[in-house]
Amino acid sequence: MNDSLLSSLADVVGSGNVVHPPPAEYLTDATGRGLTGTALAVVRPGDARQVEAAVRLCYTAGAAITPRGGGSGVSGGAVPDGGVVLSLERLDRIRHFDPLLWRIEAEAGVTTAHLHRVARESGLMFPPDPGASEQSQIGGNLATNAGGPHAFRHGPTRRWVTGIEAVLAPGELVTIGGPIRKDVAGYDLIGLLVGSEGTLGVITAAWLRLVPAPEAAHVVAGSYATDTAACAAIERILGSGIEAAAVELLDGAAMRLGGASGFPGRATGGALVLAEAEGSLAEAARTRDELIEALGEEALATEVVADRSALWHWREGLSGRLAAVRGAKLSEDVVVPLDRLGDLVAEVLEIGQRQGLEALSFGHAGDGNLHSSFLYDPDVQAEREAALRARDDLLRTTVEMGGSISGEHGLGLVKAGLLGEQWAPAAVAGHEAIKWALDPKALFNPGRKTGSGASL
Ligand SMILES: Cc1cc2nc3c(=O)[nH]c(=O)nc-3n(C[C@H](O)[C@H](O)[C@H](O)COP(=O)(O)OP(=O)(O)OC[C@H]3O[C@@H](n4cnc5c(N)ncnc54)[C@H](O)[C@@H]3O)c2cc1C
Repeated sequence: MNDSLLSSLADVVGSGNVVHPPPAEYLTDATGRGLTGTALAVVRPGDARQVEAAVRLCYTAGAAITPRGGGSGVSGGAVPDGGVVLSLERLDRIRHFDPLLWRIEAEAGVTTAHLHRVARESGLMFPPDPGASEQSQIGGNLATNAGGPHAFRHGPTRRWVTGIEAVLAPGELVTIGGPIRKDVAGYDLIGLLVGSEGTLGVITAAWLRLVPAPEAAHVVAGSYATDTAACAAIERILGSGIEAAAVELLDGAAMRLGGASGFPGRATGGALVLAEAEGSLAEAARTRDELIEALGEEALATEVVADRSALWHWREGLSGRLAAVRGAKLSEDVVVPLDRLGDLVAEVLEIGQRQGLEALSFGHAGDGNLHSSFLYDPDVQAEREAALRARDDLLRTTVEMGGSISGEHGLGLVKAGLLGEQWAPAAVAGHEAIKWALDPKALFNPGRKTGSGASL
């Protein structure tokens, strides 16, 4: 069966685009934790019709399909478990771009950074800004409903999708929505596919909304002696009615371990809050001044960071710098109601102390979304085990606080089956029913997102 499937796939996409055995880089993603999968082959279709034909062949043969974007995911979503890796990298065309109507149609394999650049060149902006933007692709962004710092003001990817083209089971190319700004004719199938982590079908293209890029933007940084004071400053931003574009936190431990190095400002130590003001020249200046005032109370120091792009570049590299401290970091993208932010930050430190590991939190704190992390030496088994225990405690604590075990990375492989920890059985059953309705043979990225019964 394998040989005949691979030869039929080669007839569709060309023999040079069926790569077997699969190169190692297609069997893993950015999660770390030693996650590596197996697959028969990597298949690289060149257009949406080839994706449709490839899916049909796999579905008929009963072969699992793992859609793959840039492989920058951090929950093991693109790590295959047998079957075929369907890489969208060759679907890299901008099909339409109408700057005067603030809209663009991009194929799944267009990188996030390329889309940002295309929009910018016409004075527009695609707001979702997940950190690995040179690597991640629009298909992957949709499949994970990616966020990023500016999701605080602009919302995650879903908010920007007006149309989606996808291949559904058993291999049918469909288009839902399009260059239309409103559509309530059917159930929200776009919403189902966005965030589905490749478990309901393969996204081949999307119509996306754009907005005019802000004329000006300023980042205000506040340093605090304690994490509590930093979290209070974040609540003050909201309480003062300031419409910041991004509100990020690095707790004291994150600053000490990976934040201070290369910070393009004068942070004085302790915890750091970054808040961005954007808008017209006048709006951005007014919001900047309001942020200085709100962040100033209880701060050791506040400043407007002179080099904004260096600041965001430094922020993008933070995760890697933290992982380098002990060789690895086990991080989860938990989210809690904003009034529990300070409790979560404190609890993460306590969990780390109990397990004998350095612990820290950083992330999109204005959304209550933190990348709480435990640093460990991957060569020391006791530390690996301690990190896993710490992570279980973290997820349990998050649910107890009324939060969610995933704010932006998805459940993927690393949290598969844990939905029942935060949803009632009837809700989980509804979730499973959707999977079976759209993927009756359970061949799209099996073992991700759905599945119940795992527990912490
Ligand atoms: C340094 C760093 C910073 C990051 N910062 C952020 C951040 O701020 N916010 C955030 O949300 N994420 C962040 N991420 C995570 C990651 O970049 C995002 O989840 C991104 O959207 C993944 O896109 P990708 O193309 O790399 O997808 P992949 O890793 O290839 O795949 C991710 C999932 O999507 C599925 N998939 C991919 N393409 C398709 C498709 N065309 N059709 C159907 N399913 C598909 C895969 O099967 C998998 O389940 C960060 C990652 C790194 C390494």
